[in-house]
Amino acid sequence: MDSDIKDKLLFPRKDASVFMGREDIKAADEYCKAYISFLNTAKTEREAVSAAVALAEKEGFIPWKKGMKIKSGDKVYFSRRGKAVVFCTIGKKSFASGLSIVASHIDSPRLDLKMQPLYEDSGMAFFDTHYYGNVKPYQWTGIPLALHGFIVREDGRELAIQIGEKPDDPRFFIADLLPHLAEEQMKKPVKDAVPAENLDVLAGLNAAPGESGTGAVKLNILRLLYEKYGITEKDLVSAELSVVPAFSASELGLDRSMVGAYGQDDKVCAYPGLTAFLSVKEPEYAACLVLADKEETGSLGISGMQSAFFPNFINELAEAAGESANAREVFSNSFCVSADVNASWYPLYKEAFDKYGDAKLNHGVILFRYWGQRGKENTNDADAQTVAALIKILDEADILWQTGEGGKVDAGSSGTLSRFFTSLDVPSIDLGVPLLSMHSPFEGAAKADIYMAHRAFTAFFKRN
Ligand code: MN
Ligand code: MN
Repeated sequence: MDSDIKDKLLFPRKDASVFMGREDIKAADEYCKAYISFLNTAKTEREAVSAAVALAEKEGFIPWKKGMKIKSGDKVYFSRRGKAVVFCTIGKKSFASGLSIVASHIDSPRLDLKMQPLYEDSGMAFFDTHYYGNVKPYQWTGIPLALHGFIVREDGRELAIQIGEKPDDPRFFIADLLPHLAEEQMKKPVKDAVPAENLDVLAGLNAAPGESGTGAVKLNILRLLYEKYGITEKDLVSAELSVVPAFSASELGLDRSMVGAYGQDDKVCAYPGLTAFLSVKEPEYAACLVLADKEETGSLGISGMQSAFFPNFINELAEAAGESANAREVFSNSFCVSADVNASWYPLYKEAFDKYGDAKLNHGVILFRYWGQRGKENTNDADAQTVAALIKILDEADILWQTGEGGKVDAGSSGTLSRFFTSLDVPSIDLGVPLLSMHSPFEGAAKADIYMAHRAFTAFFKRN
């Protein structure tokens, strides 16, 4: 067959190291250096909001206040309690023509401290935890951990805390049973080997000065917290305190082709979304970047995408545009790229993956229409027109993209934010980065795919 016709007929997978030129590979490398520093400052959703707002304010973004007027080129943002944030650059077209939305989430699986977390047993003080998001408990034992959080003191003062990130900070850990005594544990199914109630963090061993007996070690931990932060046991009830891996993000592999870090689901899409958004100064359609919280637990809560904060904010912008536009009209004319990770094929677990349909690391961004079990349950399943419109944007910008199935049919399931945008009548489709070891304390992604995500979102915000 004629090779031109063959090229036209087939849609082959392409490897980024072949597809990308030397300059592009160098650019991806540089790009990921900044990505790695971002990851190191943004392990929790609050830290990600602060880091994103700091970058946006440098570009002239200001907090939205109801009653402001807007015109083309204006840059505003709305932060929901510091846990979710929406940025908007007003476009040249009328607001009623709709928005270009890129939406990702900035919360990641972790262990949250309970409301009354401190207890003492056998002369050891512990922080009792309740895991957040879907984790494999055994992965959280025997690794260095840090404590990140946000506290509202009884006197009203708000504090952001981090213990375990600086080189001379103490770290925390969750002890596991030694293999020598684990004969019974090792016979259990992996999901039962480490019960979730055993994911408690060892906080200390020393008794408070001049104290002895039961309770003296717990008291000493409370003393240390009081001396450093002025907080009491009661202040822990309202505090958001999370235990996260203490590892730093780094390059991975002898060829440095990957980035390894905690929390890349979904900061590996949130960061490219942010850099793309900030790089497009005068979009045709109003550009909107959503960094949402609570995706890992079902998008509920005031900072999750099922909250009305997003439509309320867009409604206020529609009013401020001074047109007759209402949010309903704006939404149905909009276009949303839900930017979330998907599973990457891995040859050592072939049994879980779709050999022909699953995405591969280093093969570009993943376009996916659905992810679901039991007949695409609870999924967006994007319509053909929306998918075709995105493919056109990607191809015109020479983006390396592939498709992904999220594993074998009925092997398991997940979900993304796209279904919450379609509930607002916004046409939505998923585009993200393939991720290895998703939801583990240390996840891997390919630099080429991360850089392609930045270029893909940039092309999307520039659509006309
Ligand atoms: Mn995700
Ligand atoms: Mn996830």
